[in-house]
Amino acid sequence: MKKIIIANWKMNPQTAKEARRLFDAIKKGVRPIKNTEVVIAPSFVHLSLFKPSGSIKLAAQDLFFEDPPAGRRAYTGEISASMLKDLKVSYVIVGHSERRQYIGESDELISKKLESAFSRGFKTVLCVGEKEREEGGFSDIVRMQLKKALSCLSRNYTSRLIIAYEPLWAISTTKGARADTPQNAFEMTIFIRRAMLDIWGKNAALKIPILYGGSVNSKNAKGFLDVKGISGLLVGGASLKPDEFIKILRLS
Ligand code: PEP
Repeated sequence: MKKIIIANWKMNPQTAKEARRLFDAIKKGVRPIKNTEVVIAPSFVHLSLFKPSGSIKLAAQDLFFEDPPAGRRAYTGEISASMLKDLKVSYVIVGHSERRQYIGESDELISKKLESAFSRGFKTVLCVGEKEREEGGFSDIVRMQLKKALSCLSRNYTSRLIIAYEPLWAISTTKGARADTPQNAFEMTIFIRRAMLDIWGKNAALKIPILYGGSVNSKNAKGFLDVKGISGLLVGGASLKPDEFIKILRLS
């Protein structure tokens, strides 16, 4: 199965010109890469600058949970699943730790966003992860995040779900951040699959791709990519440097 590597540009770059330059540089570097699904998640304002191509898919960093028919109801400032479909977006990220921590997104809200994304056919990346590094790395918090977000949704969405294990303490913008170890990330994949067995059953537990995210760079990426059970990476800071990001893609 192809590895999935997602560039999460977060609230970057600050101008359309820079965003175009970054996208073009990545697109050029991606051409010889065949066995990896390369996904770019620009900010909402930059999404419409880009078109998916054979080698690059587009992702949105979030979406709103309701998608009312035009003229029915409106939610000032929000972006609907239909708007993203229209831009040929195929992936959506939901529940990023920065949104949970700094914007106060709850598991209940995340669950509604998942339903909206699944029902419109997006490949949907649910981010989970604990805030503080815990001894051993195993965490009831992750189990609860999965349970609250998914248990009320249909397991028929299994083929659309991707889980990203992305603890806040490992995200490069967190003070004192450092990447997880491949060993711990491996143990987390087992833990997540065990939790998914209880929530959506065996098929989901076995099939759902699990990504690792948090301070990934060209030096540590291989360690995670080599872990059996890790299907790819969610890359933040390093995806803003085309040479660095392309090096990561070449390792996959
Ligand atoms: C992210 O925010 O999705 C992320 C993985 O960030 P970074 O790679 O910068 O830690």
